[in-house]
Amino acid sequence: MNQVDADQGVRNCGDCSLCCQVLRVDELAKLGGVPCIHQDVGAKGCSIHPSRPKICRAYRCLWLSGGLAEPDRPDRLGAVLDVVAQGPVVRLEIRESRPGLFEASERLAAIAEEYRSSMPVRITDVGNVLDPDRSYRLLLPEGEEHRVAGDWTEVHKPGRPLERRRLPWLERTVRRLVLRLRRYRLAAPPS
Ligand code: SF4
Ligand code: SF4
Repeated sequence: MNQVDADQGVRNCGDCSLCCQVLRVDELAKLGGVPCIHQDVGAKGCSIHPSRPKICRAYRCLWLSGGLAEPDRPDRLGAVLDVVAQGPVVRLEIRESRPGLFEASERLAAIAEEYRSSMPVRITDVGNVLDPDRSYRLLLPEGEEHRVAGDWTEVHKPGRPLERRRLPWLERTVRRLVLRLRRYRLAAPPS
């Protein structure tokens, strides 16, 4: 999103524009996983760069912020990575540019292993972008993994039988209200 900025310190986006495809931009009613209509593919930049939305100006992925090694630029990894805070929980977010990429990438697996002992690692893909209730994987310390689909979570722990948990009633209700709001926002035209 910041392909031609010169104020990024030692790093700049260079030929990468993966976040312009993978991330949601509400100001443009752009869904995650759908290439932005303003992507200038030939120039590998943004055709509205001087007037791009604030969120595009502000965005710095983990690589651009210096949190990943130089060779791990998102277009080379095939995924956009961020450390995000949701309430008191901080997690590593890995957004694959296509489903199954994480499983096929030794480098992404190594990065996830490095982080999961200190924070949850959430893996999502860009399949079913119109569904705000898409399933995702959560990697936790000591090999524990949660596969979350709707109200249900499959808990995988090394050496333990598979466990299936359903969200308690109150959390299910809150989750459905949040989903309803997100669906409404996805369907609403940009203001
Ligand atoms: S407006 Fe420009 S910077 Fe923002 S997502 Fe689209 S192409 Fe990327
Ligand atoms: S994913 Fe990161 S490096 Fe790539 S264009 Fe976006 S901010 Fe720049």
